[in-house]
Amino acid sequence: MDFTYPPEAEAFRKEFRAWLDANLRDDVRGNGLGGSLETDDATLDRLRVWNRTLADARYAAIAWPEEWGGRGASVMEQVVYAEEMHRAQAPGTLNPLGLSNIAPAIIDHGTDEQKRTLLPRMLRGDDIWCQGFSEPNAGSDLASLRTSAVRDGDDWVVNGQKTWNTLGNLANWCELLVRTDTSVKHKGITCLLVDMTLPGVEVRPLVTITGEKEFNEIFFTDVRVPVAQTLGPVNEGWRVAMTTLAYERGTVAKLHLGLRSKVQRLLDEAKRTPLGDGRMASDDPVLRRDLARVYLEAELLKLISDRAISAEVHGRAMGPEGSIAKLVWSEAEQHLTEVASAVLGPDALQGPWARDRVYSRALTIAGGTTQVNKNILAQRILGLPRS
Ligand SMILES: Cc1cc2nc3c(=O)[nH]c(=O)nc-3n(C[C@H](O)[C@H](O)[C@H](O)COP(=O)(O)OP(=O)(O)OC[C@H]3O[C@@H](n4cnc5c(N)ncnc54)[C@H](O)[C@@H]3O)c2cc1C
Repeated sequence: MDFTYPPEAEAFRKEFRAWLDANLRDDVRGNGLGGSLETDDATLDRLRVWNRTLADARYAAIAWPEEWGGRGASVMEQVVYAEEMHRAQAPGTLNPLGLSNIAPAIIDHGTDEQKRTLLPRMLRGDDIWCQGFSEPNAGSDLASLRTSAVRDGDDWVVNGQKTWNTLGNLANWCELLVRTDTSVKHKGITCLLVDMTLPGVEVRPLVTITGEKEFNEIFFTDVRVPVAQTLGPVNEGWRVAMTTLAYERGTVAKLHLGLRSKVQRLLDEAKRTPLGDGRMASDDPVLRRDLARVYLEAELLKLISDRAISAEVHGRAMGPEGSIAKLVWSEAEQHLTEVASAVLGPDALQGPWARDRVYSRALTIAGGTTQVNKNILAQRILGLPRS
């Protein structure tokens, strides 16, 4: 690690920790959207109150510019923020996708009206946002998307289908990618900000292997979206939608924080789990080897994250470190649940380990699959030709 926590970041830690101690109520601690996205109304209400508390104190999106309710936080302050939220088991906001992926595009490309009407409500969790990018035949090859928008007066008329929309069942706004020119690929895509209550929008939840309604299909039938809700120039939607993570540079630290505490939990449980022959699971040489492997994977992820943060601190763009971190994290999460099953036996078939075991399959798909990430690394780091 070739960076240290500067005094400002430590001062921020002290201030934020004291604020969390004073404001985080036990009924929301550890109960964010992350655990189960099939959130009941009462939980949602509690999380919304917590979201507003964060926003009112300008702690909902510290990386956002001050003008829009953030703090313009430095990379190291963002790292400290992630560490303190994790330490306190504080849930994030109701807009995990909105704050880090959608807002940067609105801040950079939106009209004054779009920013003024949409950002404060997103920050407070008054509106919940989802991303309508993927389609049944356009996932990794997203630019093949076919949901169409045809101009008619002051409206776009939208028809088509999106799928795998996280939070789509709770969302009332959607960042939607549509095709506005069929004669070209990337250059024929436009980004729209769509009010999900408009006539013709139909959300159908998909039940996942965990039994949760995390994803959705969204169908658009002759939906009239005002042209004023176009984000950025027509046919520039690809560039607009890729304006993600521009303000959330410290969040890469979140990955290893979560993984390393799960590894620690498993190590502790291994010391308490009897094998039936007088030994504990942690005494078995094969299990010890497997535990050591996932421990090292988690520590490796921390080093990769430190390296990405170091690049930011020294003014270099993050580059492919993000893809490396995603790759290592998603595979390590899967390995960890496999080792948990071996260590805990039937006890791993219930509770959080059981959910993680099936849920973690999604991690090597979401946000760019393992194979696609490997392609990126092959080209950008190893300098290999495109296949
Ligand atoms: C947890 C989760 C949350 C998601 N949330 C959202 C969301 O909110 N909004 C949204 O729009 N989408 C969302 N998605 C969809 C996600 O972006 C896509 O699943 C992902 O991009 C892969 O697309 P696909 O499922 O169509 O698979 P495909 O692209 O059809 O891939 C199928 C297989 O082929 C492989 N493959 C594809 N292309 C290549 C290649 N060039 N080289 C080598 N192998 C290749 C893939 O790695 C994969 O194994 C989410 C997915 C998950 C799992």
